[in-house]
Amino acid sequence: MSKVLIVGAGIAGDALAVLLDRSGWEVDVVEIAPALRAGGQTVDLRGDSREVLQRLGLLEAALDATVEQRGLAWIDADERRRAEMPVEAFGGAGFVSSEELLRTDLARLLHGAVGPRTTHRFGDTIVGLAEAGEGVAVEFRERPPEVYDLVVGADGAHSRVRRLVFGPEEAFRRPLGLAHAWYTLRETPTTPGLDGWFLMLNLPGSRVVEARPGHPGEQEVGLTFPVDVLPPRDDAEARFALLERTFAGAGWRTAELLAAARAADDFALDTYDQIRMDAWSRGRVVLLGDSAWCASPLSGLGTALALRGAATLADALGARLPDDVAGALAAYESAMRPVTVRAQAMYPGRVRSFAPRTRLGIAAMTGVMRLVQRGPVATFLTRHVGDYGQAPEAAPTRPVTTGR
Ligand SMILES: Cc1cc2nc3c(=O)[nH]c(=O)nc-3n(C[C@H](O)[C@H](O)[C@H](O)COP(=O)(O)OP(=O)(O)OC[C@H]3O[C@@H](n4cnc5c(N)ncnc54)[C@H](O)[C@@H]3O)c2cc1C
Repeated sequence: MSKVLIVGAGIAGDALAVLLDRSGWEVDVVEIAPALRAGGQTVDLRGDSREVLQRLGLLEAALDATVEQRGLAWIDADERRRAEMPVEAFGGAGFVSSEELLRTDLARLLHGAVGPRTTHRFGDTIVGLAEAGEGVAVEFRERPPEVYDLVVGADGAHSRVRRLVFGPEEAFRRPLGLAHAWYTLRETPTTPGLDGWFLMLNLPGSRVVEARPGHPGEQEVGLTFPVDVLPPRDDAEARFALLERTFAGAGWRTAELLAAARAADDFALDTYDQIRMDAWSRGRVVLLGDSAWCASPLSGLGTALALRGAATLADALGARLPDDVAGALAAYESAMRPVTVRAQAMYPGRVRSFAPRTRLGIAAMTGVMRLVQRGPVATFLTRHVGDYGQAPEAAPTRPVTTGR
């Protein structure tokens, strides 16, 4: 067993590529985008992410790339602060941490760490997978077919590997009823600064407008709203129009932030979904990361799970191969399954507390945010909730606001 195809050069895919390359595998990575995908908001370096990055030898570089953040503030339409949670809250275990880097920077670091046995093929994807004796025959869109010993689907929540091997997305997708747009705004001399604060405006109708610090001279924008079905991916105009209708007259900087969506080169819009599957492998094809267990950005754990999953899969393959592929994939699954189940459970009221429906709900939520940071409640939470970036079994309650 020596040749693996990883579909998707995201966080999970490239982390696995680094690890398998180190243990002597020949690694091909096929990525549908023409180059490494940029964009995304921040990734938390607490907990699992930290441990795996340390093992990859990337922790120091990741810590060097952190975004300067002072905390999270819930504001009203006139930018008056209803509640704040500084990065120091709960002994540094609050919603926003001083140890977060942009997803784009983490992806770049992982990509830069791949070894000499790894080849990336951008702008291509798979169109067919079939068992071929002791391997998997893979058909590509842009190049001739090849046989691999193992195929890993690390191609995100809308995985094509999953569709080809396990069936249509609808069978596994659990929508949470909200959609989220995210993109980068480039500041101009007249752009209001954030002074290190992640500003969040909750609006009636479960709508949320966010602007948070990014690279110097940039802000990361997020827009959340209720939706059943989004316009098709290739109909950009319908997608912008939907955002503009949904947030018309919302106050604060919303008009400026909406205009920035059209100018952004990393604009993304997707539903908040979970992916739930009974099994993550079939034969010599296995799923990893969001393709297998997406817990949704509301869990705050997408990247931590992707990194941990990559390390767990690499270890399982290292321990059982060359003879026992099935045993290795089963060991990976039994180690990761409880972790992902806990992550998907989130805490009760998670969706509602992030995006309350009514003015009263918003007032109650911000009131609670002030309350939990005071006196004995804060002391209790600091002691018991802390470390929410840890593996789920280590920290069952995790009040994460947004993120991966
Ligand atoms: C550009 C980008 C920005 C993101 N921003 C955020 C964010 O702001 N907040 C958040 O909570 N989560 C975000 N995510 C999701 C987050 O990265 C994941 O939840 C988490 O890191 C798990 O990673 P993953 O590797 O499983 O999936 P992903 O990071 O989604 O990576 C999947 C990769 O597979 C590629 N791919 C997809 N389909 C195919 C195909 N058919 N063939 C080949 N390659 C394919 C994608 O282009 C991508 O590079 C973002 C993902 C991307 C790709």
